[in-house]
Amino acid sequence: MIRILYAIGSARNRRTLTILLALLGISSAALAAGLVSIALFLDALFGGAAGQTMTFLIWTGVAFAVYAASDWLIEVIAQNVGNEYIQRIHELLANRAVELPLGFFETDRSGQLGVTVSTGAVFAANAPGMMLRPILNGGVSAALASVFLVLVDWRIGVLAAIVSIVTVVAFRILFARARAAEQVKAEHEERTAAQVYEFAQVQPVLRAAGPDSIGERAVREAMREQLLVLQRTQASGHAVLSRLSSIIMLGTVVVHAAATGLLLAGQLAPGMFVGLIVLVFMLAKLATQAVPFGEGLQMAHNTLDEVQKVLDAEALPEPAAPASPEGYGIEFDDVTFGYRPSTPVVRGVSFRVGPGTTTALVGPSGSGKSTLVKLAARFYDVDGGAVRIGGVDVRELGSRHVLDSLAMVFQDVYLFEDTLYENIRLGRLDATRDEVLRAAELAGVTEIAEQLPLGFETVISEGGQSLSGGQRQRVSIARALLKDAPIVLLDEATSSLDIDNEHLILKGLEELAAQRTTIVIAHRLHTIIGADQIVVLSPEGELEAVGTHEELLESSDRYRGFWVEKAEATGWRIAHDSDALDG
Ligand code: ADP
Repeated sequence: MIRILYAIGSARNRRTLTILLALLGISSAALAAGLVSIALFLDALFGGAAGQTMTFLIWTGVAFAVYAASDWLIEVIAQNVGNEYIQRIHELLANRAVELPLGFFETDRSGQLGVTVSTGAVFAANAPGMMLRPILNGGVSAALASVFLVLVDWRIGVLAAIVSIVTVVAFRILFARARAAEQVKAEHEERTAAQVYEFAQVQPVLRAAGPDSIGERAVREAMREQLLVLQRTQASGHAVLSRLSSIIMLGTVVVHAAATGLLLAGQLAPGMFVGLIVLVFMLAKLATQAVPFGEGLQMAHNTLDEVQKVLDAEALPEPAAPASPEGYGIEFDDVTFGYRPSTPVVRGVSFRVGPGTTTALVGPSGSGKSTLVKLAARFYDVDGGAVRIGGVDVRELGSRHVLDSLAMVFQDVYLFEDTLYENIRLGRLDATRDEVLRAAELAGVTEIAEQLPLGFETVISEGGQSLSGGQRQRVSIARALLKDAPIVLLDEATSSLDIDNEHLILKGLEELAAQRTTIVIAHRLHTIIGADQIVVLSPEGELEAVGTHEELLESSDRYRGFWVEKAEATGWRIAHDSDALDG
Protein backbone atom coordinates (compact mmCIF):
# COMPACT_ATOMS: atom_id res chain seq x y z
CA MET A 1 0.00 0.00 0.00
CA ILE A 2 2.75 2.40 1.00
CA ARG A 3 4.57 1.51 -2.22
CA ILE A 4 1.55 2.47 -4.33
CA LEU A 5 0.99 5.65 -2.32
CA TYR A 6 4.59 6.66 -2.99
CA ALA A 7 4.21 5.74 -6.65
CA ILE A 8 1.09 7.84 -7.23
CA GLY A 9 1.91 10.75 -4.90
CA SER A 10 3.29 14.13 -5.97
CA ALA A 11 6.61 15.26 -4.45
CA ARG A 12 4.65 17.12 -1.77
CA ASN A 13 2.43 14.09 -1.06
CA ARG A 14 5.50 11.92 -0.69
CA ARG A 15 7.12 14.39 1.69
CA THR A 16 4.15 14.54 4.04
CA LEU A 17 3.74 10.79 3.84
CA THR A 18 7.41 10.32 4.79
CA ILE A 19 6.98 12.64 7.79
CA LEU A 20 3.89 10.72 8.82
CA LEU A 21 5.68 7.38 8.54
CA ALA A 22 8.66 8.69 10.52
CA LEU A 23 6.34 9.93 13.26
CA LEU A 24 4.54 6.59 13.27
CA GLY A 25 7.91 4.88 13.73
CA ILE A 26 8.88 7.26 16.56
CA SER A 27 5.54 6.82 18.29
CA SER A 28 5.70 3.01 18.15
CA ALA A 29 9.31 3.00 19.35
CA ALA A 30 8.42 5.35 22.21
CA LEU A 31 5.51 3.10 23.16
CA ALA A 32 7.83 0.08 23.19
CA ALA A 33 10.39 2.00 25.26
CA GLY A 34 7.66 3.04 27.71
CA LEU A 35 6.47 -0.54 28.14
CA VAL A 36 10.02 -1.83 28.64
CA SER A 37 10.64 0.96 31.18
CA ILE A 38 7.57 -0.15 33.12
CA ALA A 39 8.97 -3.70 33.21
CA LEU A 40 12.33 -2.38 34.41
CA PHE A 41 10.60 -0.17 36.96
CA LEU A 42 8.65 -3.15 38.34
CA ASP A 43 11.86 -5.20 38.41
CA ALA A 44 13.62 -2.47 40.37
CA LEU A 45 10.65 -1.96 42.68
CA PHE A 46 10.20 -5.63 43.60
CA GLY A 47 13.88 -6.51 43.26
CA GLY A 48 14.87 -4.14 46.02
CA ALA A 49 16.82 -1.75 43.78
CA ALA A 50 15.01 1.25 45.19
CA GLY A 51 17.66 3.62 43.82
CA GLN A 52 16.81 2.74 40.23
CA THR A 53 13.05 2.93 40.68
CA MET A 54 13.01 6.67 40.20
CA THR A 55 15.26 6.49 37.12
CA PHE A 56 12.98 3.96 35.40
CA LEU A 57 9.95 5.95 36.38
CA ILE A 58 11.44 9.00 34.68
CA TRP A 59 12.30 6.92 31.60
CA THR A 60 8.73 5.72 31.49
CA GLY A 61 7.49 9.30 31.78
CA VAL A 62 9.79 10.55 29.02
CA ALA A 63 8.91 7.64 26.69
CA PHE A 64 5.18 8.20 27.12
CA ALA A 65 5.60 11.97 26.73
CA VAL A 66 7.35 11.36 23.38
CA TYR A 67 4.61 8.87 22.47
CA ALA A 68 1.86 11.36 23.31
CA ALA A 69 3.56 14.23 21.45
CA SER A 70 4.19 12.19 18.29
CA ASP A 71 0.70 10.79 18.49
CA TRP A 72 -0.72 14.30 18.55
CA LEU A 73 1.39 15.31 15.55
CA ILE A 74 0.32 12.15 13.73
CA GLU A 75 -3.29 13.11 14.29
CA VAL A 76 -2.72 16.48 12.62
CA ILE A 77 -0.52 15.26 9.76
CA ALA A 78 -2.58 12.15 9.05
CA GLN A 79 -5.54 14.38 8.21
CA ASN A 80 -3.41 16.37 5.79
CA VAL A 81 -2.04 13.24 4.18
CA GLY A 82 -5.57 11.88 3.86
CA ASN A 83 -6.97 15.03 2.28
CA GLU A 84 -4.00 15.51 -0.01
CA TYR A 85 -4.18 11.95 -1.25
CA ILE A 86 -7.94 12.10 -1.85
CA GLN A 87 -7.33 15.16 -3.99
CA ARG A 88 -4.39 13.50 -5.72
CA ILE A 89 -6.31 10.32 -6.55
CA HIS A 90 -9.22 12.34 -7.93
CA GLU A 91 -6.86 14.50 -9.95
CA LEU A 92 -5.00 11.50 -11.38
CA LEU A 93 -8.17 9.65 -12.26
CA ALA A 94 -9.74 12.73 -13.83
CA ASN A 95 -6.63 13.41 -15.93
CA ARG A 96 -6.52 9.80 -16.92
CA ALA A 97 -10.21 9.71 -17.77
CA VAL A 98 -9.78 12.16 -20.63
CA GLU A 99 -6.99 10.07 -22.15
CA LEU A 100 -8.57 6.66 -21.95
CA PRO A 101 -10.45 5.30 -24.95
CA LEU A 102 -14.21 5.80 -24.63
CA GLY A 103 -14.63 2.04 -24.69
CA PHE A 104 -13.00 1.92 -21.24
CA PHE A 105 -15.99 3.59 -19.65
CA GLU A 106 -18.52 1.22 -21.03
CA THR A 107 -20.69 -0.98 -18.87
CA ASP A 108 -19.18 -2.54 -15.75
CA ARG A 109 -15.97 -0.54 -15.71
CA SER A 110 -17.62 2.80 -15.06
CA GLY A 111 -19.48 1.36 -12.07
CA GLN A 112 -16.22 0.12 -10.64
CA LEU A 113 -14.55 3.43 -11.37
CA GLY A 114 -17.36 5.23 -9.53
CA VAL A 115 -16.80 3.18 -6.37
CA THR A 116 -13.02 3.70 -6.58
CA VAL A 117 -13.37 7.44 -7.00
CA SER A 118 -15.89 7.94 -4.20
CA THR A 119 -15.68 5.74 -1.11
CA GLY A 120 -12.54 3.90 -2.22
CA ALA A 121 -10.38 7.01 -2.56
CA VAL A 122 -11.42 8.37 0.85
CA PHE A 123 -10.79 5.04 2.51
CA ALA A 124 -7.40 4.43 0.88
CA ALA A 125 -6.15 7.98 1.40
CA ASN A 126 -6.89 7.82 5.13
CA ALA A 127 -5.44 4.35 5.57
CA PRO A 128 -1.89 5.37 6.59
CA GLY A 129 -3.14 7.56 9.42
CA MET A 130 -6.06 5.49 10.58
CA MET A 131 -4.82 1.96 10.13
CA LEU A 132 -1.05 1.95 10.11
CA ARG A 133 -0.91 3.45 13.60
CA PRO A 134 -2.48 0.55 15.51
CA ILE A 135 -0.68 -1.94 13.30
CA LEU A 136 2.72 -0.38 13.88
CA ASN A 137 1.97 0.01 17.59
CA GLY A 138 1.24 -3.69 17.75
CA GLY A 139 3.98 -4.83 15.35
CA VAL A 140 6.93 -2.50 16.02
CA SER A 141 6.36 -2.48 19.77
CA ALA A 142 6.22 -6.26 19.80
CA ALA A 143 9.45 -6.51 17.77
CA LEU A 144 11.35 -4.02 19.94
CA ALA A 145 10.06 -5.48 23.15
CA SER A 146 11.09 -8.96 21.95
CA VAL A 147 14.68 -7.69 21.71
CA PHE A 148 14.39 -6.64 25.34
CA LEU A 149 13.03 -10.04 26.31
CA VAL A 150 16.01 -11.72 24.63
CA LEU A 151 18.32 -9.57 26.70
CA VAL A 152 16.49 -10.52 29.91
CA ASP A 153 16.37 -14.22 29.13
CA TRP A 154 17.03 -15.56 25.65
CA ARG A 155 14.63 -18.48 26.10
CA ILE A 156 11.68 -16.18 26.81
CA GLY A 157 12.82 -13.88 24.01
CA VAL A 158 12.92 -16.74 21.49
CA LEU A 159 9.54 -17.99 22.66
CA ALA A 160 8.01 -14.52 22.28
CA ALA A 161 9.57 -14.23 18.83
CA ILE A 162 8.10 -17.60 17.81
CA VAL A 163 4.66 -16.52 19.03
CA SER A 164 5.01 -13.28 17.02
CA ILE A 165 6.07 -15.13 13.88
CA VAL A 166 3.24 -17.66 14.17
CA THR A 167 0.78 -14.78 14.60
CA VAL A 168 2.11 -12.94 11.54
CA VAL A 169 2.07 -16.10 9.38
CA ALA A 170 -1.45 -16.98 10.55
CA PHE A 171 -2.49 -13.40 9.86
CA ARG A 172 -1.25 -13.59 6.28
CA ILE A 173 -2.81 -16.97 5.53
CA LEU A 174 -6.17 -16.17 7.09
CA PHE A 175 -6.38 -12.76 5.47
CA ALA A 176 -5.42 -14.11 2.05
CA ARG A 177 -8.46 -16.34 2.32
CA ALA A 178 -10.66 -13.53 3.59
CA ARG A 179 -9.41 -11.31 0.78
CA ALA A 180 -10.43 -13.83 -1.87
CA ALA A 181 -13.90 -13.92 -0.29
CA GLU A 182 -13.90 -10.12 -0.19
CA GLN A 183 -13.14 -10.00 -3.91
CA VAL A 184 -16.09 -12.25 -4.67
CA LYS A 185 -18.27 -10.06 -2.49
CA ALA A 186 -17.16 -6.88 -4.26
CA GLU A 187 -17.88 -8.40 -7.66
CA HIS A 188 -21.34 -9.42 -6.52
CA GLU A 189 -22.00 -5.98 -5.09
CA GLU A 190 -21.06 -4.37 -8.36
CA ARG A 191 -23.20 -6.74 -10.35
CA THR A 192 -26.21 -6.21 -8.10
CA ALA A 193 -25.73 -2.43 -8.17
CA ALA A 194 -25.60 -2.50 -11.97
CA GLN A 195 -28.70 -4.65 -12.09
CA VAL A 196 -30.66 -2.41 -9.71
CA TYR A 197 -29.57 0.63 -11.72
CA GLU A 198 -30.67 -1.00 -14.94
CA PHE A 199 -33.90 -2.05 -13.23
CA ALA A 200 -34.59 1.58 -12.34
CA GLN A 201 -33.72 2.75 -15.84
CA VAL A 202 -36.03 0.36 -17.63
CA GLN A 203 -39.02 0.89 -15.34
CA PRO A 204 -41.34 2.01 -18.16
CA VAL A 205 -40.78 -1.23 -20.05
CA LEU A 206 -40.96 -3.40 -16.93
CA ARG A 207 -44.15 -1.83 -15.69
CA ALA A 208 -45.72 -2.42 -19.04
CA ALA A 209 -44.61 -6.06 -18.76
CA GLY A 210 -46.40 -6.39 -15.40
CA PRO A 211 -45.22 -7.81 -12.06
CA ASP A 212 -42.85 -10.77 -11.86
CA SER A 213 -41.32 -10.00 -15.22
CA ILE A 214 -37.92 -11.42 -16.18
CA GLY A 215 -36.30 -8.10 -15.19
CA GLU A 216 -37.77 -8.20 -11.69
CA ARG A 217 -36.81 -11.80 -11.19
CA ALA A 218 -33.24 -11.11 -12.31
CA VAL A 219 -32.86 -8.32 -9.75
CA ARG A 220 -34.38 -10.45 -6.97
CA GLU A 221 -32.07 -13.34 -7.86
CA ALA A 222 -29.01 -11.04 -7.85
CA MET A 223 -29.98 -9.63 -4.44
CA ARG A 224 -30.50 -13.09 -2.98
CA GLU A 225 -27.10 -14.18 -4.25
CA GLN A 226 -25.47 -11.06 -2.87
CA LEU A 227 -26.96 -11.70 0.55
CA LEU A 228 -25.57 -15.24 0.61
CA VAL A 229 -22.12 -14.06 -0.42
CA LEU A 230 -22.26 -11.27 2.16
CA GLN A 231 -23.15 -13.70 4.93
CA ARG A 232 -20.34 -16.02 3.90
CA THR A 233 -17.70 -13.26 3.77
CA GLN A 234 -18.83 -11.80 7.07
CA ALA A 235 -18.64 -15.20 8.70
CA SER A 236 -15.12 -15.77 7.37
CA GLY A 237 -14.12 -12.21 8.43
CA HIS A 238 -15.28 -12.82 12.02
CA ALA A 239 -13.59 -16.22 12.01
CA VAL A 240 -10.26 -14.60 11.09
CA LEU A 241 -10.46 -12.10 13.95
CA SER A 242 -11.41 -14.65 16.60
CA ARG A 243 -8.80 -17.17 15.42
CA LEU A 244 -6.04 -14.59 15.52
CA SER A 245 -7.11 -13.37 18.97
CA SER A 246 -7.03 -16.99 20.18
CA ILE A 247 -3.52 -17.49 18.79
CA ILE A 248 -2.30 -14.34 20.53
CA MET A 249 -3.91 -15.32 23.84
CA LEU A 250 -2.51 -18.82 23.64
CA GLY A 251 0.95 -17.39 22.93
CA THR A 252 0.65 -15.10 25.96
CA VAL A 253 -0.20 -18.04 28.19
CA VAL A 254 2.79 -20.03 26.84
CA VAL A 255 5.21 -17.13 27.49
CA HIS A 256 3.72 -16.57 30.96
CA ALA A 257 4.08 -20.31 31.73
CA ALA A 258 7.72 -20.28 30.60
CA ALA A 259 8.43 -17.23 32.77
CA THR A 260 6.76 -18.96 35.74
CA GLY A 261 8.90 -22.06 35.13
CA LEU A 262 12.07 -19.95 35.13
CA LEU A 263 10.93 -18.14 38.29
CA LEU A 264 10.31 -21.43 40.13
CA ALA A 265 13.68 -22.75 38.94
CA GLY A 266 15.22 -19.67 40.42
CA GLN A 267 16.49 -18.42 37.07
CA LEU A 268 14.33 -15.31 36.90
CA ALA A 269 14.22 -12.65 39.62
CA PRO A 270 10.71 -12.10 41.07
CA GLY A 271 10.81 -8.40 40.16
CA MET A 272 11.64 -9.14 36.51
CA PHE A 273 8.99 -11.87 36.50
CA VAL A 274 6.32 -9.30 37.41
CA GLY A 275 7.75 -6.90 34.84
CA LEU A 276 7.66 -9.55 32.09
CA ILE A 277 4.12 -10.68 32.90
CA VAL A 278 2.88 -7.09 32.63
CA LEU A 279 4.92 -6.36 29.49
CA VAL A 280 3.81 -9.48 27.61
CA PHE A 281 0.22 -8.89 28.62
CA MET A 282 0.26 -5.33 27.30
CA LEU A 283 1.93 -6.39 24.05
CA ALA A 284 -0.72 -9.05 23.55
CA LYS A 285 -3.38 -6.38 24.01
CA LEU A 286 -1.75 -4.09 21.44
CA ALA A 287 -1.43 -6.97 18.97
CA THR A 288 -5.09 -7.96 19.42
CA GLN A 289 -6.17 -4.36 18.86
CA ALA A 290 -4.14 -4.24 15.65
CA VAL A 291 -5.77 -7.29 14.05
CA PRO A 292 -9.00 -5.72 12.71
CA PHE A 293 -6.99 -2.93 11.12
CA GLY A 294 -5.04 -5.48 9.10
CA GLU A 295 -8.22 -6.22 7.22
CA GLY A 296 -8.88 -2.52 6.63
CA LEU A 297 -5.36 -2.08 5.37
CA GLN A 298 -5.92 -4.87 2.90
CA MET A 299 -9.09 -3.21 1.62
CA ALA A 300 -7.21 0.05 1.19
CA HIS A 301 -4.54 -1.85 -0.69
CA ASN A 302 -7.16 -3.34 -3.03
CA THR A 303 -8.59 0.09 -3.77
CA LEU A 304 -5.17 1.50 -4.53
CA ASP A 305 -4.55 -1.47 -6.80
CA GLU A 306 -7.73 -0.51 -8.62
CA VAL A 307 -6.54 3.09 -8.94
CA GLN A 308 -3.22 1.87 -10.28
CA LYS A 309 -5.00 -0.33 -12.80
CA VAL A 310 -6.90 2.67 -14.18
CA LEU A 311 -3.69 4.68 -14.27
CA ASP A 312 -1.89 1.87 -16.06
CA ALA A 313 -4.73 1.15 -18.52
CA GLU A 314 -3.54 1.62 -22.03
CA ALA A 315 -4.64 4.66 -23.98
CA LEU A 316 -5.07 4.20 -27.71
CA PRO A 317 -1.93 5.12 -29.62
CA GLU A 318 -2.33 8.57 -31.13
CA PRO A 319 -0.53 9.73 -34.28
CA ALA A 320 2.21 12.33 -33.82
CA ALA A 321 0.94 14.22 -36.87
CA PRO A 322 -2.75 13.43 -37.55
CA ALA A 323 -3.51 12.73 -41.22
CA SER A 324 -6.24 14.69 -43.07
CA PRO A 325 -9.27 12.90 -44.44
CA GLU A 326 -10.51 13.46 -47.98
CA GLY A 327 -14.21 13.99 -47.47
CA TYR A 328 -16.26 12.11 -44.93
CA GLY A 329 -17.14 8.77 -46.40
CA ILE A 330 -16.70 5.81 -44.03
CA GLU A 331 -15.22 2.48 -44.95
CA PHE A 332 -15.15 -0.75 -42.98
CA ASP A 333 -12.45 -2.90 -44.55
CA ASP A 334 -12.43 -6.54 -43.42
CA VAL A 335 -13.02 -5.43 -39.82
CA THR A 336 -12.67 -7.98 -37.03
CA PHE A 337 -13.07 -7.01 -33.39
CA GLY A 338 -13.78 -8.63 -30.03
CA TYR A 339 -14.09 -7.20 -26.52
CA ARG A 340 -12.03 -10.18 -25.39
CA PRO A 341 -9.09 -11.21 -27.57
CA SER A 342 -10.26 -14.73 -28.37
CA THR A 343 -13.96 -14.00 -29.01
CA PRO A 344 -14.59 -11.72 -31.97
CA VAL A 345 -18.08 -10.21 -32.11
CA VAL A 346 -17.56 -8.62 -35.53
CA ARG A 347 -15.91 -10.80 -38.17
CA GLY A 348 -14.43 -9.69 -41.47
CA VAL A 349 -17.04 -6.98 -42.11
CA SER A 350 -16.55 -4.76 -45.19
CA PHE A 351 -18.83 -2.03 -46.53
CA ARG A 352 -18.64 1.62 -47.53
CA VAL A 353 -20.84 4.53 -46.54
CA GLY A 354 -20.68 7.18 -49.26
CA PRO A 355 -20.22 10.80 -48.18
CA GLY A 356 -23.58 12.39 -47.36
CA THR A 357 -25.46 9.08 -47.57
CA THR A 358 -27.30 7.06 -44.95
CA THR A 359 -26.56 3.43 -44.12
CA ALA A 360 -28.94 1.49 -41.91
CA LEU A 361 -27.54 -1.38 -39.85
CA VAL A 362 -29.95 -4.21 -39.20
CA GLY A 363 -29.49 -7.61 -37.62
CA PRO A 364 -30.54 -9.53 -34.55
CA SER A 365 -29.67 -8.29 -31.10
CA GLY A 366 -26.02 -9.01 -30.35
CA SER A 367 -25.00 -9.15 -34.01
CA GLY A 368 -22.55 -6.28 -33.53
CA LYS A 369 -24.47 -3.21 -34.77
CA SER A 370 -23.52 -1.01 -31.80
CA THR A 371 -20.00 -2.37 -31.90
CA LEU A 372 -19.57 -1.27 -35.54
CA VAL A 373 -20.82 2.20 -34.68
CA LYS A 374 -18.41 2.40 -31.73
CA LEU A 375 -15.53 1.29 -33.94
CA ALA A 376 -16.39 4.14 -36.32
CA ALA A 377 -16.12 6.55 -33.37
CA ARG A 378 -12.87 4.83 -32.27
CA PHE A 379 -14.15 3.79 -28.84
CA TYR A 380 -11.88 0.83 -29.53
CA ASP A 381 -9.31 -0.07 -32.17
CA VAL A 382 -10.04 -2.98 -34.47
CA ASP A 383 -8.23 -6.31 -34.05
CA GLY A 384 -8.04 -6.88 -37.79
CA GLY A 385 -8.75 -4.83 -40.93
CA ALA A 386 -9.35 -1.09 -40.76
CA VAL A 387 -12.00 1.57 -40.29
CA ARG A 388 -11.38 4.58 -42.53
CA ILE A 389 -12.89 8.03 -42.58
CA GLY A 390 -12.31 10.02 -45.77
CA GLY A 391 -9.92 7.31 -46.90
CA VAL A 392 -7.72 7.58 -43.78
CA ASP A 393 -7.44 4.92 -41.09
CA VAL A 394 -9.01 6.26 -37.87
CA ARG A 395 -5.79 5.26 -36.08
CA GLU A 396 -3.92 7.72 -38.27
CA LEU A 397 -6.60 10.39 -37.89
CA GLY A 398 -6.37 10.19 -34.10
CA SER A 399 -9.21 10.03 -31.57
CA ARG A 400 -9.55 13.81 -31.28
CA HIS A 401 -10.05 14.31 -35.00
CA VAL A 402 -12.45 11.36 -35.24
CA LEU A 403 -14.61 12.66 -32.40
CA ASP A 404 -14.53 16.20 -33.78
CA SER A 405 -15.85 15.02 -37.12
CA LEU A 406 -18.85 13.15 -35.81
CA ALA A 407 -21.97 13.60 -33.71
CA MET A 408 -23.44 10.69 -31.79
CA VAL A 409 -27.03 10.25 -30.79
CA PHE A 410 -27.22 7.13 -28.68
CA GLN A 411 -29.99 5.73 -26.53
CA ASP A 412 -28.44 6.62 -23.19
CA VAL A 413 -28.44 10.40 -23.22
CA TYR A 414 -26.69 12.06 -20.31
CA LEU A 415 -27.89 15.50 -19.32
CA PHE A 416 -25.84 17.60 -16.92
CA GLU A 417 -27.29 19.40 -13.94
CA ASP A 418 -27.49 22.72 -15.72
CA THR A 419 -30.04 24.69 -17.70
CA LEU A 420 -31.74 23.18 -20.73
CA TYR A 421 -29.99 25.85 -22.81
CA GLU A 422 -26.52 24.90 -21.56
CA ASN A 423 -27.27 21.24 -22.10
CA ILE A 424 -27.83 21.96 -25.78
CA ARG A 425 -24.90 24.36 -26.06
CA LEU A 426 -22.66 21.49 -25.00
CA GLY A 427 -22.90 20.38 -28.65
CA ARG A 428 -20.69 23.32 -29.63
CA LEU A 429 -19.49 25.67 -26.94
CA ASP A 430 -18.84 28.61 -29.28
CA ALA A 431 -22.36 28.56 -30.72
CA THR A 432 -24.36 31.80 -30.62
CA ARG A 433 -27.70 31.98 -28.83
CA ASP A 434 -29.50 32.04 -32.17
CA GLU A 435 -27.73 28.89 -33.29
CA VAL A 436 -28.60 27.10 -30.05
CA LEU A 437 -32.26 28.11 -30.32
CA ARG A 438 -32.41 27.10 -33.97
CA ALA A 439 -31.00 23.64 -33.21
CA ALA A 440 -33.54 23.39 -30.38
CA GLU A 441 -36.33 24.33 -32.76
CA LEU A 442 -35.29 21.76 -35.40
CA ALA A 443 -35.00 18.99 -32.80
CA GLY A 444 -38.35 19.76 -31.18
CA VAL A 445 -36.79 20.98 -27.92
CA THR A 446 -38.62 24.32 -28.08
CA GLU A 447 -41.81 22.38 -27.25
CA ILE A 448 -40.08 20.96 -24.17
CA ALA A 449 -38.88 24.40 -23.07
CA GLU A 450 -42.42 25.76 -23.36
CA GLN A 451 -43.61 23.25 -20.78
CA LEU A 452 -40.86 24.03 -18.26
CA PRO A 453 -41.28 26.77 -15.63
CA LEU A 454 -38.27 28.83 -16.73
CA GLY A 455 -38.19 27.70 -20.36
CA PHE A 456 -34.66 27.18 -21.65
CA GLU A 457 -33.28 28.50 -18.37
CA THR A 458 -34.82 25.67 -16.32
CA VAL A 459 -32.20 23.58 -14.57
CA ILE A 460 -32.43 19.94 -15.55
CA SER A 461 -31.68 17.51 -12.75
CA GLU A 462 -28.53 15.42 -12.82
CA GLY A 463 -28.68 12.57 -15.30
CA GLY A 464 -31.63 14.27 -16.99
CA GLN A 465 -34.12 12.29 -14.99
CA SER A 466 -36.67 15.07 -14.94
CA LEU A 467 -37.11 14.72 -18.72
CA SER A 468 -38.66 11.70 -20.38
CA GLY A 469 -36.57 9.34 -22.49
CA GLY A 470 -37.93 10.85 -25.69
CA GLN A 471 -37.31 14.39 -24.46
CA ARG A 472 -33.75 13.54 -23.52
CA GLN A 473 -33.19 12.14 -26.96
CA ARG A 474 -34.50 15.32 -28.53
CA VAL A 475 -31.98 17.32 -26.48
CA SER A 476 -29.29 14.99 -27.73
CA ILE A 477 -30.44 15.52 -31.34
CA ALA A 478 -30.33 19.29 -30.78
CA ARG A 479 -26.75 18.96 -29.51
CA ALA A 480 -25.81 16.96 -32.58
CA LEU A 481 -27.48 19.48 -34.92
CA LEU A 482 -25.62 22.28 -33.20
CA LYS A 483 -22.33 20.47 -33.54
CA ASP A 484 -23.00 20.25 -37.27
CA ALA A 485 -20.42 17.51 -37.76
CA PRO A 486 -20.13 15.88 -41.20
CA ILE A 487 -20.75 12.39 -39.79
CA VAL A 488 -23.69 11.28 -37.68
CA LEU A 489 -23.87 8.03 -35.73
CA LEU A 490 -27.36 7.20 -34.57
CA ASP A 491 -28.87 4.56 -32.40
CA GLU A 492 -32.53 4.84 -33.10
CA ALA A 493 -34.33 4.18 -29.85
CA THR A 494 -37.56 2.29 -29.91
CA SER A 495 -38.05 1.95 -26.19
CA SER A 496 -38.82 4.81 -23.85
CA LEU A 497 -40.51 6.90 -26.52
CA ASP A 498 -44.07 8.02 -26.37
CA ILE A 499 -46.16 8.57 -29.45
CA ASP A 500 -46.25 12.35 -28.98
CA ASN A 501 -42.51 12.46 -29.11
CA GLU A 502 -42.13 10.17 -32.02
CA HIS A 503 -42.90 12.52 -34.90
CA LEU A 504 -40.74 15.25 -33.35
CA ILE A 505 -37.86 12.85 -32.99
CA LEU A 506 -38.27 11.57 -36.53
CA LYS A 507 -38.31 15.14 -37.79
CA GLY A 508 -35.14 15.93 -35.85
CA LEU A 509 -33.41 12.78 -37.03
CA GLU A 510 -34.29 13.45 -40.64
CA GLU A 511 -32.92 16.93 -40.28
CA LEU A 512 -29.77 15.52 -38.76
CA ALA A 513 -29.18 12.84 -41.40
CA ALA A 514 -29.78 15.19 -44.34
CA GLN A 515 -26.54 15.95 -46.19
CA ARG A 516 -24.46 14.10 -43.61
CA THR A 517 -22.71 10.74 -43.72
CA THR A 518 -24.94 8.74 -41.45
CA ILE A 519 -24.79 5.28 -39.92
CA VAL A 520 -27.97 4.42 -38.12
CA ILE A 521 -28.80 1.38 -36.01
CA ALA A 522 -32.27 1.27 -37.42
CA HIS A 523 -35.37 -0.01 -35.70
CA ARG A 524 -38.05 1.87 -37.60
CA LEU A 525 -39.17 0.49 -40.91
CA HIS A 526 -39.43 3.99 -42.25
CA THR A 527 -35.75 4.64 -41.55
CA ILE A 528 -34.72 1.32 -43.07
CA ILE A 529 -36.64 1.92 -46.28
CA GLY A 530 -35.40 5.50 -46.51
CA ALA A 531 -31.72 4.54 -46.17
CA ASP A 532 -29.46 4.70 -49.22
CA GLN A 533 -28.10 1.33 -48.25
CA ILE A 534 -28.90 -1.35 -45.71
CA VAL A 535 -26.25 -3.54 -44.11
CA VAL A 536 -27.55 -6.85 -42.78
CA LEU A 537 -25.51 -8.58 -40.08
CA SER A 538 -25.72 -12.24 -39.13
CA PRO A 539 -26.07 -13.35 -35.49
CA GLU A 540 -22.35 -14.28 -35.63
CA GLY A 541 -21.34 -10.71 -36.47
CA GLU A 542 -20.63 -11.36 -40.12
CA LEU A 543 -21.82 -9.30 -43.03
CA GLU A 544 -24.86 -11.06 -44.45
CA ALA A 545 -25.88 -8.73 -47.26
CA VAL A 546 -25.67 -5.12 -48.44
CA GLY A 547 -28.13 -3.32 -50.68
CA THR A 548 -31.24 -1.21 -50.89
CA HIS A 549 -34.54 -2.38 -49.46
CA GLU A 550 -35.79 -3.62 -52.83
CA GLU A 551 -32.54 -5.39 -53.65
CA LEU A 552 -32.39 -7.11 -50.30
CA LEU A 553 -36.02 -8.25 -50.44
CA GLU A 554 -34.95 -10.07 -53.60
CA SER A 555 -31.52 -11.30 -52.62
CA SER A 556 -31.41 -11.91 -48.87
CA ASP A 557 -33.55 -14.52 -47.16
CA ARG A 558 -32.53 -13.21 -43.77
CA TYR A 559 -33.50 -9.67 -44.68
CA ARG A 560 -36.84 -10.78 -46.08
CA GLY A 561 -37.51 -12.79 -42.91
CA PHE A 562 -36.50 -9.86 -40.75
CA TRP A 563 -38.68 -7.52 -42.75
CA VAL A 564 -41.75 -9.73 -42.66
CA GLU A 565 -41.41 -10.19 -38.92
CA LYS A 566 -40.98 -6.45 -38.28
CA ALA A 567 -43.75 -5.50 -40.67
CA GLU A 568 -46.16 -7.92 -39.06
CA ALA A 569 -45.25 -6.72 -35.60
CA THR A 570 -45.94 -3.12 -36.56
CA GLY A 571 -48.87 -3.80 -38.87
CA TRP A 572 -47.16 -2.82 -42.12
CA ARG A 573 -47.95 -4.38 -45.43
CA ILE A 574 -44.98 -5.83 -47.29
CA ALA A 575 -46.15 -4.29 -50.54
CA HIS A 576 -45.88 -0.92 -48.86
CA ASP A 577 -46.62 2.36 -50.40
CA SER A 578 -43.83 4.73 -49.62
CA ASP A 579 -46.09 7.28 -47.92
CA ALA A 580 -47.03 4.87 -45.20
CA LEU A 581 -45.62 5.39 -41.73
CA ASP A 582 -44.98 2.95 -38.93
CA GLY A 583 -47.72 1.67 -36.70
P1 ADP B 1 -26.13 -5.19 -31.23
O1 ADP B 1 -25.94 -3.72 -31.23
O2 ADP B 1 -26.29 -5.76 -32.59
O3 ADP B 1 -27.22 -5.65 -30.31
P2 ADP B 1 -23.60 -5.26 -29.85
O4 ADP B 1 -22.63 -4.64 -30.77
O5 ADP B 1 -24.14 -4.42 -28.74
O6 ADP B 1 -24.80 -5.89 -30.69
O7 ADP B 1 -22.97 -6.55 -29.20
C1 ADP B 1 -22.28 -7.55 -29.94
C2 ADP B 1 -21.72 -8.56 -28.96
O8 ADP B 1 -20.70 -7.94 -28.18
C3 ADP B 1 -22.75 -9.09 -27.97
O9 ADP B 1 -22.47 -10.46 -27.78
C4 ADP B 1 -22.47 -8.31 -26.71
O10 ADP B 1 -22.78 -9.09 -25.58
C5 ADP B 1 -21.00 -8.03 -26.80
N1 ADP B 1 -20.65 -6.74 -26.15
C6 ADP B 1 -21.17 -5.52 -26.44
N2 ADP B 1 -20.59 -4.55 -25.69
C7 ADP B 1 -19.67 -5.17 -24.91
C8 ADP B 1 -18.73 -4.72 -23.92
N3 ADP B 1 -18.60 -3.43 -23.59
N4 ADP B 1 -17.95 -5.65 -23.32
C9 ADP B 1 -18.05 -6.96 -23.65
N5 ADP B 1 -18.90 -7.46 -24.57
C10 ADP B 1 -19.71 -6.57 -25.20
